[in-house]
Amino acid sequence: MSGCNRGSRGRRGALKLFGAMAAAGLGAAFGAAPAPAQAKTSQAAAAYRNSPKGRQSCANCSWFEAPSGCGVVKGPVSARGWCALWG
Ligand code: SF4
Repeated sequence: MSGCNRGSRGRRGALKLFGAMAAAGLGAAFGAAPAPAQAKTSQAAAAYRNSPKGRQSCANCSWFEAPSGCGVVKGPVSARGWCALWG
């Protein structure tokens, strides 16, 4: 009922505003990372191939999403494939 309540409402209002901005995808306008789907690289740009490079392959890459997905390269990839973004 006092000034404290008004201040609390103000903070809640600010939190609601940031929540609405995040929901609307406005975070990118303030330097946030783009959505992963938009950040994926083409297989050609990543020099993807359907064979491993030595002991490196999609199967032991941190970006691999079994059974045939990749967090940074577009399209299906093989567990036995490899690209320059391996890591
Ligand atoms: S090696 Fe390349 S294509 Fe394969 S999972 Fe890793 S980043 Fe994706």
